[in-house]
Amino acid sequence: MHLDDPLELHLRLTPKQKERLLNAGLKTARDILWRFPARYESFHEPKAIRDLAAGDRAVITGHVVSAKITKTFRTKIALAETVIDDGTGKIRAIWFNQPYIAKTLKPEIEYSFAGRVGEGKRGLFLANPKYRAPGSFVEETEQKTLTPVYPESRGVTSEWLAYAAGKLLEKFSGLPAGEAGAFDDPIPHDILARYKLPSLKTALHAIHKAPDARIALAARKRFAFEEIFLIQLDRQKIKMARSRSHATPVRIAPDAFKPFLSSLPFALTNAQKAAIKAVLTDISRPLPMARLLEGDVGSGKTIVAAIAAYACAKSGHQIAYMAPTEILARQHYQDFCAHFAPYRIPVGLITSSECRRFPSKAFPTKDTHTSRAQFLKWAASGEIPIIIGTHALIQDSMKFRKLALAVIDEQHRFGVAQRARLAEGSPRRTHLASATALGIPHLLSMTATPIPRTLALTLYGDLELTLIDEMPAGRKKIITTVVPPALRARAYEQMRSEIKKGRQAYIICPRIEENSASTRVGRDGSDSEMVLEMKSVKAEHKKLSRDVFPEFNVEMLHGKMLPKEKERVMRDFRAGKIHVLIATSVIEVGVNVPNATLILIEGADRFGLAQLHQLRGRVLRGTHQPYCFVFTDSTTARTLTRLQALVEAKNGFELAEYDLKFRGAGELSGSGQWGISDAGMEALKNIKMVEAARAEARALLERDPELGRHPRLKSFAARFENLHFE
Ligand code: ADP
Ligand code: MG
Repeated sequence: MHLDDPLELHLRLTPKQKERLLNAGLKTARDILWRFPARYESFHEPKAIRDLAAGDRAVITGHVVSAKITKTFRTKIALAETVIDDGTGKIRAIWFNQPYIAKTLKPEIEYSFAGRVGEGKRGLFLANPKYRAPGSFVEETEQKTLTPVYPESRGVTSEWLAYAAGKLLEKFSGLPAGEAGAFDDPIPHDILARYKLPSLKTALHAIHKAPDARIALAARKRFAFEEIFLIQLDRQKIKMARSRSHATPVRIAPDAFKPFLSSLPFALTNAQKAAIKAVLTDISRPLPMARLLEGDVGSGKTIVAAIAAYACAKSGHQIAYMAPTEILARQHYQDFCAHFAPYRIPVGLITSSECRRFPSKAFPTKDTHTSRAQFLKWAASGEIPIIIGTHALIQDSMKFRKLALAVIDEQHRFGVAQRARLAEGSPRRTHLASATALGIPHLLSMTATPIPRTLALTLYGDLELTLIDEMPAGRKKIITTVVPPALRARAYEQMRSEIKKGRQAYIICPRIEENSASTRVGRDGSDSEMVLEMKSVKAEHKKLSRDVFPEFNVEMLHGKMLPKEKERVMRDFRAGKIHVLIATSVIEVGVNVPNATLILIEGADRFGLAQLHQLRGRVLRGTHQPYCFVFTDSTTARTLTRLQALVEAKNGFELAEYDLKFRGAGELSGSGQWGISDAGMEALKNIKMVEAARAEARALLERDPELGRHPRLKSFAARFENLHFE
């Protein structure tokens, strides 16, 4: 018996159930037991309807005074819609996909309803509340425990998850310690004791069958600690391994940079100078650099990498510069060609759709396409010192002659494994086991995603951190406005007048095409009334080019277009031939068109604050006043307050801290952005816990570097290796 056994070995499942569980990513006993409740409900203390406010989690008792079955407007999801009256007031309660509830509830019975109060165009409502009739059997048993509320998936209800977790707990708790499948605790006892954390077995019981909130919280804390600890263990292991390997020192005379620096059209900021100094110092050592350059969008990180590239090329080494999208790689390639043309330093570009080099053999001022085979030869012979590319850079066929520096741009877009591959030229285990005489390349990671400090310490625990916390002089502050739907036309007019002045604009939509699945049902009745009609690139393109901006050239850019077509659009946009570019968030990363000064974001509640900040950074490039218009159909106070933070925040770090602080448990993973569970995210609100986990991980590795004496920990930590960030 094992936690990783397929579920059907432990629970009787119909084929339909199996399919739904599979779709929800629930395959094993572990998957169920480690899917924790987002919150708990108690049916003990009802509130008066009169006193409810949006965002509350509440229990009310009352009679159903009207009930009907309807469908959601656009997506035709069946809906039970009722009105509940408790004598102090009335409130609507709605259930999605469970129309039968409208018939089940009897007007003469006083029920308890528990759920979250939402606010929509027609006032307050309860979405998918749990309900109980008085004196029901369930209520009796629930007196003793809280009712867990699990994040639901299509066809997998919270009730079923509670039932399944209960069954599995019973089965597995019976196993004697040490036996395969028993709840063996990966965290050493002494550590648990130091922080007064419950053991794994105790915590699992407490979290699924919480007798009270305090005990549930202690259990959550334990899992939070565990997750951070295991991630730290993995990162600290990488860090220690790096510190035992060696790298090629890249040294050039400080004077050698003078002509390059003086050819730049701007003066470096102090933050850039400090970053450049740190990087050049690092790479001049025989120890591999592992540095993360974190700086807000537009703070000028590329030039730091360019100067390091210059140092490598001048000293006879190679550099590989990896970007997450073809658009971005091509843009860097073009910029680097311009930077290095005067020095005749060859620059190459490799993506899955093309290979190019500059200068071409025949024309020293032009670039040229080359065959992949030829390109790979040039890389392997060292003929091209600066190679920019996408994931194509980490293919097996890609070989370098003397790779001294690996740069990873927008590094949060890559998984740890991908980053490691570029940084080490081969999967990291094999490599570290056989560090060759050449050593490993220095690693410079760059990100514009401002993340909270605790998250940086955790996810990037293997890297040294350099912040570029200063914007180039003369940048104007983006004027951000959250536009109520009624003022849409006015926003378009302002856009028109900016474009007439010669500027260009982006419009960002949450999705490419309209389709029937374009609604969101708040997972636990949260946030939105649902029926958020999501704007799509294609539909907006049609509407805007025909009805709103017929006099302008309006085009679109999204991930489903052919690479050639994407490139043409980007080129035309850069050249100013396109006035309005409608895109998905593909333009989020690094696209740089200084004349584009206006960005309009549709469905802004669909994006995280940090992402919105990234998006709006696209217009912070030129000397003209930039504008950002933010649209949302959501009218909830929470969404509006969040978006207001975007208007007011001084920088991305402030927004990231805000996002972390104000999003509750059970909502953070909605973004899935960082690949950390809700419990883990909770821990990140607590700097002390993060620091403790980090210190414990380090101490443990110092005693037992390969975790040979902690086999369980070893296998657990391995699960966090490939944590992806998107
Ligand atoms: P990011 O940090 O977002 O990658 P980039 O490196 O793309 O930012 O730089 C954004 C823009 O700012 C580019 O057009 C770049 O040439 C310009 N830039 C970089 N450093 C400076 C500076 N010190 N002064 C003025 N402009 C700068
Ligand atoms: Mg960049």
